[in-house]
Amino acid sequence: MISQDDLGNLKAIAGEQFVSTGESVLNLHSHDESYHTPALPDVVVWPHSTDEVSRITRYAFEKKLPITGWGVGTSLEGNPIPVNHGIVVDFQEMQKVIAIRPEDFQVDVQAGVVYKELNKALSRHGLFFPPDPGAAATIGGMIGNNASGIRTVKYGGTKDHIMRLVVVLPGGEVIRIGNRARKSSSGYDLIHLFVGSEGTLGLVTEATLRLVGLPANFMALRVAFPEVKNATDTVFKIMSSGFSPAAMEFLDSNVIGVLNRDRNLTMEERPTLLMEFNGFSNEGLRDEMDYIEEICAENSSTIIDKGIGQEERDRLWEIRHLTFESLKRQHPGLLPLIVDVAVPLSSYSDTVAFIKKEVSELNAYVFGHAGDGNIHVVVMDDPADGFRWAKVDEANHRIVEKALAFEGTCTGEHGVGIGKRCFLPDEHGDSLELMKRIKNLIDPEGIFNPGKFF
Ligand SMILES: Cc1cc2nc3c(=O)[nH]c(=O)nc-3n(C[C@H](O)[C@H](O)[C@H](O)COP(=O)(O)OP(=O)(O)OC[C@H]3O[C@@H](n4cnc5c(N)ncnc54)[C@H](O)[C@@H]3O)c2cc1C
Repeated sequence: MISQDDLGNLKAIAGEQFVSTGESVLNLHSHDESYHTPALPDVVVWPHSTDEVSRITRYAFEKKLPITGWGVGTSLEGNPIPVNHGIVVDFQEMQKVIAIRPEDFQVDVQAGVVYKELNKALSRHGLFFPPDPGAAATIGGMIGNNASGIRTVKYGGTKDHIMRLVVVLPGGEVIRIGNRARKSSSGYDLIHLFVGSEGTLGLVTEATLRLVGLPANFMALRVAFPEVKNATDTVFKIMSSGFSPAAMEFLDSNVIGVLNRDRNLTMEERPTLLMEFNGFSNEGLRDEMDYIEEICAENSSTIIDKGIGQEERDRLWEIRHLTFESLKRQHPGLLPLIVDVAVPLSSYSDTVAFIKKEVSELNAYVFGHAGDGNIHVVVMDDPADGFRWAKVDEANHRIVEKALAFEGTCTGEHGVGIGKRCFLPDEHGDSLELMKRIKNLIDPEGIFNPGKFF
């Protein structure tokens, strides 16, 4: 438990009004967007600088207080839940865009910057930061979870866009890693050790991000198919034909049904692909569209809604961004268990077919970033109903087993958090032991985001 002395000392570092034990503040920082059991922190602190984070961390280390980083809590696996209570460090007061360097396609930011706000600022320079997890996530949270999203199929995930990090280690030591060169083969790749470590090794306070130019022209398609296999085979066909979609999403007919009901839409309730392509000219995109349509027709597509230009793209894509919200609204009182497996593209069709069979008796919705071989299954149910939740959990385990049998992963983008811990021994085998040794080396007291990974 935090004592009055501790509170006084934290206030001396961050300022009186930036330390809170208020009930609503603690509640807000006790849960993410998942079904995992909330846990209250003892105190929430909002630092303003790397120096303050370092001093808070040193204090926590000396007092052996758990310390958990917090972006905006949009994780889906319990990643930021402070299961051992202690201090939550919320990065909301560290939202500075420090320097935009358009000539180098780079930006320096503090960890609390929200990527959607960042992209608004970058658009004035014709640039953007491509990983796009949908929710209004912070850069620190995206680095924590190695988030990705609908544009990853073309541009990569968060890990592919981090050049430099400022990290506060568990004793309060500040390290600067990486450089601004476009390539480097200098030393161990520490950047990628911290990206995806979910705040278990250190707190990121600043980052230099690699950017890309905004696309000049857009083309988008929404294509429905008679059966799931027609849609998933089309994904493989398009990807293996050398096309480079800017986004390629699969939605099963249950998802389309929920979107129709929730948004008053009239889409054909069939397995559907949403695709986007970017290019230099509309003529080039029109040619590409013809080829894509041909491939879809060969796989028995039943309806194609398509368009060229940003407005058309926005119209066709709006539904995908709304999926999670619509699912929750259409199932009041139920919570989501989210499967997030990813497999090699050649196994995509078989994996989706397996999943559809596994969840046929459940309240389940299958969709995902198909071009990355990433499949989400959202099962809406009541964790308090032991009998039903056991069935949900069994299906979850069987799906992950299948993905691992295809040499895939239990989590393509949501991270391990609490929910995926049980799968790590099967996925990583002996190398899990090395991960534990790294954790013990960097955080011997186990104070950084305890209860995650291991
Ligand atoms: C509607 C919806 C859609 C989503 N879609 C996607 C998607 O398409 N792809 C995807 O990848 N994710 C998706 N997510 C999940 C989530 O948005 C991402 O994982 C996101 O990166 C979390 O960011 P956050 O700022 O909310 O971080 P939080 O949830 O607050 O924290 C995430 C993790 O990072 C740690 N952390 C936070 N800040 C720091 C820091 N400064 N230094 C070190 N560690 C830190 C936390 O302790 C925690 O372990 C979605 C979530 C929702 C609600």
